[in-house]
Amino acid sequence: MQDIAAATEANPDRTAVGFRGEEWSYEELWELTSRFAAGLAEHGVEAGDRVAVYLPNLPQFVTAFHGTLHAGGIVVPMNPQYKSREISHLLADSEARVVVALSDLVPFVDAVREETSVEHVVSVGGEAEGATPFEEFLAEEGADVVERDDDDVAVQPYTSGTTGRPKGVLLSHHNLAWDARATAKLLPDGVQPDDKFLGVLPLFHIYGMTVTMLSTLFEGGSYYPLPAWDAEATLSRIEAERLTVMHGVPAMFNDLVNFEDADDYDLSSLRFVNSGGSSLPIEVMNRFETVFGVELYEGYGLTETSPVTHANRPGERRPGSIGKPLDGLDARIVDGAFEDVPPVERGPVDEEAVDLNEITGELVVSGPNVMRGYYGLPEADEEAFTEDGGERWFHTGDIGYRDEDDYYYVVDRAKHMIVTGGYNVYPREVEELLFEHPQVADAAVVGIPDDRRGETVKAYVVPVPDSDVTPEEIRQYCLDTLAEYKHPREVEFIDELPRTTTGKVQKFELRDRSGTAPSDD
Ligand code: AMP
Repeated sequence: MQDIAAATEANPDRTAVGFRGEEWSYEELWELTSRFAAGLAEHGVEAGDRVAVYLPNLPQFVTAFHGTLHAGGIVVPMNPQYKSREISHLLADSEARVVVALSDLVPFVDAVREETSVEHVVSVGGEAEGATPFEEFLAEEGADVVERDDDDVAVQPYTSGTTGRPKGVLLSHHNLAWDARATAKLLPDGVQPDDKFLGVLPLFHIYGMTVTMLSTLFEGGSYYPLPAWDAEATLSRIEAERLTVMHGVPAMFNDLVNFEDADDYDLSSLRFVNSGGSSLPIEVMNRFETVFGVELYEGYGLTETSPVTHANRPGERRPGSIGKPLDGLDARIVDGAFEDVPPVERGPVDEEAVDLNEITGELVVSGPNVMRGYYGLPEADEEAFTEDGGERWFHTGDIGYRDEDDYYYVVDRAKHMIVTGGYNVYPREVEELLFEHPQVADAAVVGIPDDRRGETVKAYVVPVPDSDVTPEEIRQYCLDTLAEYKHPREVEFIDELPRTTTGKVQKFELRDRSGTAPSDD
């Protein structure tokens, strides 16, 4: 990866990172990353070694990330919400030699250190026993870049996928650089040096890493990290810094439109706002556009594809669609025999009027951003890829369809589909309807076991504050609108939906609450 060298050369004095009133120019960021790289070299880190980064979105994440690549290392990002039990697998599996951790998180590393290959811990934001403070770890003099091939692995994020334990995803320098540049081009005229990106998507997740941090810094723009999701902080940050780009997940946009004083904020500086990570309910999109007067686009991707594969572009979009494949990426909808499922004329289809089973199949993709494979898991690779027509197709595990204009529509995750009395129900369809109810603030639909039907549809609903709606009314509302077999026979009100930091509803946890055996999502 070209790293940030080109942007530094072109714009040495421009702001690369801004955080809590402080700013770092490209030249300053370059100096810090090369000193961090030199620190790694002094501690014996060599090309191909792994460095785990266990931090929220802070300027030090950016330094550790680019510094590790500068030193020829591989970044293993770890969710800062994880505790010992969760990081022990990641550290042991990746054989990370160095961990850069928030000082408060260092004890979680210490607790499992013996089971891992960790030799050095670097603490950020304070001192911690057994750890070198970040500022001390930086060497006096910067190091030269350790050159790596385009196909060498640059980052190894972990993702759960369909089976058991999280798997390390091997993403090369080329995978990341290609995706970062392709997503930068989605903006009108591409990302410009005077663009200012909000960095609220977590950097440990590929979406925040590539689409916000890399696509900004490669093009000489500025990156403004926020360490945690907070609607008020987000709105005031956009207004105060006149930020121009926001990438987020639907749960964030839903929070923003439900935020009480949303109207008081001026977001007119935003020139591109994009949602990804899970399906954007059309209702949330419409409300966002009404409240803030800014268009909201939807894209789609996965950790394994660095991540973006599809996106709606300004000037040409179809609400309800994940957009068209990125230029240079091939996508197909295939059936179980890996034959193409023909496109519909124009989407989105009326899901009530068509038999979804006839028009849908699995979305598979092939292109320069598709991972090399899973770390040390040849069997998982075998399951994830199919060779066909001279291309290596990655199975996304998502069910969808496409239309004749090449817009794609994701109906749901294959494994979230509910089979009730022999009928297939895609939770997303029911969720879209629930979002249209004025007294519903948030909603998720899962299948729960049912002796007669195999599974039954159940809805978890967060009512808007001070609402007087009852679960029975919500059930009836769905029954009035949907085919009988699709309506949630059970509706339960809940204060908040369990979500991952990247906004995905943890459906296994909801099924768990209903007494279903846990299964990995
Ligand atoms: P991750 O590997 O955590 O990025 O998760 C990837 C998964 O997120 C995909 O396989 C989809 O199920 C889901 N996803 C991402 N973007 C969208 C979207 N726009 N619509 C529906 N699902 C999405």
